[in-house]
Amino acid sequence: MRVLLIEDEKALSAAICKVLKSEQIVVDAAFDGEEGLDDALTGIYDAIILDVMLPKLDGFSVLRELRENGSAVPILMLTARAELEDRLRGLRGGADYYLPKPFQMEELIACLRVITRRKAETPVMALQFGDTELSESGASLINSKTGTSIKLGAKEYQLMELFMRHPRQILKREQIIEHVWGFESDAEYNSIEVYISFLRKKLAFIESSLKIRATRGIGYSLEEEVC
Ligand code: CA
Repeated sequence: MRVLLIEDEKALSAAICKVLKSEQIVVDAAFDGEEGLDDALTGIYDAIILDVMLPKLDGFSVLRELRENGSAVPILMLTARAELEDRLRGLRGGADYYLPKPFQMEELIACLRVITRRKAETPVMALQFGDTELSESGASLINSKTGTSIKLGAKEYQLMELFMRHPRQILKREQIIEHVWGFESDAEYNSIEVYISFLRKKLAFIESSLKIRATRGIGYSLEEEVC
């Protein structure tokens, strides 16, 4: 899962980023409404955490612009102003959940899981392809016939999740870099190759029927080998 956090309070932003990363969630931070809106409009995020009081463009305006642009991304709004009026305004404007500050980090994670599950194009249950299952909770690959499993690192998990959500489709290298490393990363194409080789080894270890096929000069696809 890849999340955009739009929050101008640096300390709070850093704290939220840290917690999300510990949950295997990839997070990008934006610190004002304009930057946040630009990032959000790229459409690469599975959810957005949006503060209301922001410099340049407030959270309600960001929310409205996103919905007017046809974005259906789940949005969790944060605000110090916990009045009912604001809460209703947020919901009417198309936010999925409204979390008043201060909040517990556990609460934030729980809300995020709920809104992304509700809106996910592919339900969590569907992260199964062929004989192989990708478990979100333990970030592991499981052979559902034999029960053999192996742990995945954060990047391996992100990469495998992308493949499992788009089985049999060729994913371009640029698309993979954007999803796993983000726009501002200095990941090179050979980083992809390194992680693909890790995943291939892990798929082989659990004796999965899935194979990651390379299409020269274009990208990779997750295929099922039927014997
Ligand atoms: Ca703020």
